[in-house]
Parts: sequence; C-alpha cells; structure tokens
Amino acid sequence: MAKYMSVDTLKWLLNDVHNVKELFKYERFADYDEDSVNILLDSAKSWADQEFFPIFREMDENPCTYEDGKVTSHPNLRRIIETAGRDGWLGSTFDYDDGGTQMPHLVSNALNHIFQTANNHIPGYMGLTTGAADLIRTFGSQELKDKYIPKMIGGQWGGTMCLTEPQAGSSLSDITTSATPQDDGSYKITGQKIFISGGDHQAVDNFVHLVLARIDGAPAGTKGISLFVVPKHRITDSDELEYNDVFTAGDFQKMGQRGYATVHLVFGENKDCVGHLVGEPHKGLKYMFQMMNGARIDVGMTAASTATAAYYASLKYAKERPQGRKIENSGKKDPNAGQTLIINHPDVRRMLLLQKAINEASLSLLFETAKLVDLAHVEEGDTASNHHLLLELLTPIAKTYPSEKGQEAISNGLQIFGGYGFCMDFPLQQYYRDIRIMSLYEGTTGIQSLDLLGRKVTMQNGAALHLLMEKINEVTAEANNHEELKPYADKLMKAVGHVQSALAYLLPMGMKGDYESFLADATEFMKMTSNIVIAYHWLKMATRAKHALVTGDTTYKSNFYENKIHTMKFYYKYELPHARASLEVILNNEELTIVKEDREIFA
Ligand SMILES: Cc1cc2nc3c(=O)[nH]c(=O)nc-3n(C[C@H](O)[C@H](O)[C@H](O)COP(=O)(O)OP(=O)(O)OC[C@H]3O[C@@H](n4cnc5c(N)ncnc54)[C@H](O)[C@@H]3O)c2cc1C
Repeated sequence: MAKYMSVDTLKWLLNDVHNVKELFKYERFADYDEDSVNILLDSAKSWADQEFFPIFREMDENPCTYEDGKVTSHPNLRRIIETAGRDGWLGSTFDYDDGGTQMPHLVSNALNHIFQTANNHIPGYMGLTTGAADLIRTFGSQELKDKYIPKMIGGQWGGTMCLTEPQAGSSLSDITTSATPQDDGSYKITGQKIFISGGDHQAVDNFVHLVLARIDGAPAGTKGISLFVVPKHRITDSDELEYNDVFTAGDFQKMGQRGYATVHLVFGENKDCVGHLVGEPHKGLKYMFQMMNGARIDVGMTAASTATAAYYASLKYAKERPQGRKIENSGKKDPNAGQTLIINHPDVRRMLLLQKAINEASLSLLFETAKLVDLAHVEEGDTASNHHLLLELLTPIAKTYPSEKGQEAISNGLQIFGGYGFCMDFPLQQYYRDIRIMSLYEGTTGIQSLDLLGRKVTMQNGAALHLLMEKINEVTAEANNHEELKPYADKLMKAVGHVQSALAYLLPMGMKGDYESFLADATEFMKMTSNIVIAYHWLKMATRAKHALVTGDTTYKSNFYENKIHTMKFYYKYELPHARASLEVILNNEELTIVKEDREIFA
C-alpha cells in the first residue's frame, strides 16, 4: 500500500512537541497514557489502511448520485459508520456519562489526521454527526439528549449543520427559514437549506439536522436566530420513525470531495416539519458557534491531511522518476552519463521541502488548538479563560493557513509529476481538486480574515495576542539555548515586529470608525500573521528536535530530528520573508480596492 502519512511524525508531534502526557494528569483524562494512545493510533492506522484508503479513488470516480429524493453514496459507507459507532470513534471526546470515552481532543484530532490522509471524503460524515450530537449535549434539554445522542454516536443516525440558504452564505444575518410555535412546545419549520454536507445518503437510518431558523416575530439580524433539532424522520410515541417533511431536493455535483454528499434540503414543503428548540430562543448563532469552531479546526485538519497524503505521493514519484542529469554532470555534456532521479534536482527538492514545511507545521498548529480545547475544558478560572482566548485567536488561522497553503503545497506536488500530474491516472489531480473546497466552506478565507483582524486581535484589548506573544517568547528563549537555533529565534522576533507595525498602522483607522480602510487588507494581514505563527511552530519543533539530539533522549534515528531542523531552516529561508512583503502591502496607503462611487474600475 502506498504511504499516505507518517505515523512517526504524528507520534512525535503528539508526544514530544505537544506533550500529550501533560493532559493525563487531569482526572478527566486519567484513564489514558502514552501507551494506550499509541495503541489507538496504530489501530486507527490499520482501520484506515483497510477501509478508507482503498476506496479513496473510487469515491471520486463514482461520486454520490441523486434520484427521486434520495442520495446514494459509496456502498461501504454504512459499514464504516456502523464500525465508528460500535467501536466508540464517534463521541469519543464525550463524558463517560454521555456515552463517550473522555478522549482528549488532542488525541481524537491525531486519529482524525490518520483517517483524513487515507480518504478525505469519509471523516466529514462522522465529524458532523459528532459535532451535532455535541451541540445537543451542551445546550439541549434532557429529552433531546436522550432521544438523539445515543443513536447518533452509535452510528445509526447522521448529524448535520444547516446554516446556509441560497441568499445567506457568508452573512447568516440574512437567513429566512422560519419556526412557528405550536401548542405542544414544538415548532413548525419552513425553509430551504443548501450545501448541507452529509445531509442525505443511504448509509444511516435517519438524520438529525441542526437548523438555524427565525421564530415568527423574532428581531432582524443575528440576534433573532434560534437553533432547532429537526430530524428527517421524527420518533412517534410508539418509537417508530415517521417522515418529518424534510425533502432532499438535490445533491450538488462538485469538482472535489465527490464522495462526500452535499445536499439541498427543503423543510416543511407540506407544512408538516416539526423542530425542537435547542436552549433559549434567539441564541442559536451563539450555540452554533460551538459546532462551527470545531468544524473550522476539522476543516484545517482535512486540508493539512489532504496535503500530507499528496506530499507522500509526490515524494514516492520523485524517488522513482529518472529525468535529466545532475547539474554538476550536465555541464560536461556527456550523453553517456546516466539519468538521475528527479529527487536529486534542487528545484524538485525545494518543492518537496515546501510541502513538508507547510504540512507538518499546519499539523502542529492544529494540535495546539486541540490541546487548548482540552485545557480550557479541564482548567478553571483565569487559566481556562486564557486557554479559551488563545484558542479563539488561533482558530481562524488554523482553518485558513492549511486550507490556503495546502493548495499551494499540493500544486507543488502536482508539479513534481510533470505532465502526468495533470492526468487522471495519477492521484495528485484528485488531491488538488479535493482541497479546493477547504478555503470556501466553514467561512471563506475572506471571512476568516475579517474575523481575525476585526474581532480576534482586538478582543479584550488585544489579550489573546499577548498570550500568543508569551508562547512565542517561551519558544525563542528555549531556542536561544542552542547556538544553531539562535539566528532563527532572532528572525522570528523581527517578524513578530511586523504584526506590531501593521497593527500600529491599522488600529487607529478602526478606532476612528473608518472600518473599510481598517479591514480592506484583512486577508493580507491573515497571510502575514499565519506565516509568523507557522514560523513559531517550526521553531518549537526544531527546538524539541535539537533538545532530543543534545540530550540523546531520542525515540527515532538522529536523521529524523536533523530533518525537522533542516525543514525549519527551509521555512525560514523560503517562506518567512514573505511576511515582510505582506507588511509592505498593508502599510501602503494607496486605496485601490475600496469602492469609489465616482469610478467604474471593472468596465
Ligand atoms: C461542498 C460544500 C459543503 C458545504 N457544507 C455546508 C454545511 O454542511 N452546512 C452549511 O450550512 N453550509 C455548508 N456549505 C456552505 C458554505 O459554508 C458557504 O458556501 C460559504 O460560507 C460561502 O457562502 P456562499 O457560497 O453563499 O458565498 P458568498 O457568501 O456569496 O461569498 C462569495 C464571495 O464573497 C466574499 N464575501 C462575502 N461576504 C463578504 C464580506 N462581508 N466581506 C468580504 N468578502 C465577502 C466571500 O469571501 C466569497 O469570496 C457548504 C458549501 C459547499 C460548497
């Protein structure tokens, strides 16, 4: 079987870089230890080898189909989801009392990485079910919990998030799906939701849709949005399933993730769609943010994992494809000199290192966010709030960097295949198409960037940024203990200064109320900040690797650690300097993108 990920790198990130052990001292996670986590990772890998990877190409070549209100996905999907339920992969992070195994999110994210690298079309079905069940668990009544959660995390029923409507994508304040109160305390739901991932297929017996809608007479805007549980089949008093007037009007045919159904749902066409309010009225968007934030980290993970699988495919090809001669031989023009493998060409090595640099640091960043979720949960008071605050800051970056730079990584992987990369017989084109959605759904890059600059950076007077600075200071202080790493610690601190310069320029505009100028280049700010956050992760990884080499406390061969330091140096030479270019864009006060009423630019 082709290699699609590195278990060694995964375990190293988990154990050495992100110190998963630290979590086991908390009572919540006391049943876990390093050995049990390693066993979980190994069994996830063998399940992924058996069930996920072998159907990755098939799911693209035979995408989901739609006929007569029904969507059909890959025939193996039912078995996979049933196994996920039976073996406790779904809901693993839930409390024991709620049917879970209190697994740290850090560990469940590592497992997700394995599944996503093997086949990025499948884990979304499971992740959304877990996320929807978690939302009911956190905000729902006991009755809703008892009725829905066991079947969801048992793998019999699927869960979805239903936000988007034809006229309301990025801007949820415009949703119009309505909820009319009934005498029995339920609501009649009417409206349409589009682009609903995993919203219908034959692999489960029922769907539990988490739907954003407006109760009749609710205030306009986001403050009038409530959250409802709307099953496709409602449960009768005699425990039977009865059609709940949720019609599947179509399945979107897509350029990528073609085995992952994306459906159009019509609620209440016959005025018989019953929904149940979750929590209090008008607080739906706030509740939904719990699921959206989790899903954003999942999307980042899907992107990083898809790009990782593409990297290993291109690495294999580069090691097998002979073409041209080494530069040192080509000058001699000796036609008898043998061809070299393309992996020996500096430009091909650059493309491989670029992929590795983007992917491994993306994974490290995603693990940092997962550990923050765990720490925010088990800690208390200010410590918990600080973890939460840092998580809020890093979430848009952890969604956006792997999605945007993962595309670049895969594009470089495809380039390594030369013309074959463009051909359907080779796998890179599929990874290239699959990853394209990541910067679109769960909030586009533009929206994530507005969130980062307009909300996250400024919240609580920049408190989250201070927390990030503390982390960066810790890493640079540690790096400064090693002569070899000192220059990189210096470079990182200089780059951090770019963020400060950008904010010194931008924030006064925001304070003056000139929001359009303040936020016009939010995407450039995201590019710069995420570049620097990734540089911090590379220094962190290099410092751990150096520490292992110096102390001899190594699990792998020394080459493993040296390669991590080498990739860090690559990142600092080839990628970090782009942060300076982004700063120049931000500081340039020419306003070329802001609408000027008196000029038509795009004629
Ligand atoms: C395959 C797939 C699966 C999906 N799964 C789900 C799902 O499970 N549940 C669900 O509810 N939705 C889902 N979606 C919907 C997805 O989240 C939206 O498509 C996305 O949020 C963008 O909304 P839109 O398509 O309406 O684009 P628009 O909001 O119309 O955006 C178009 C462009 O304008 C930009 N833009 C919009 N507003 C602003 C602004 N204020 N400032 C700057 N730029 C702006 C955007 O960045 C984008 O580039 C899915 C979509 C797809 C394609």
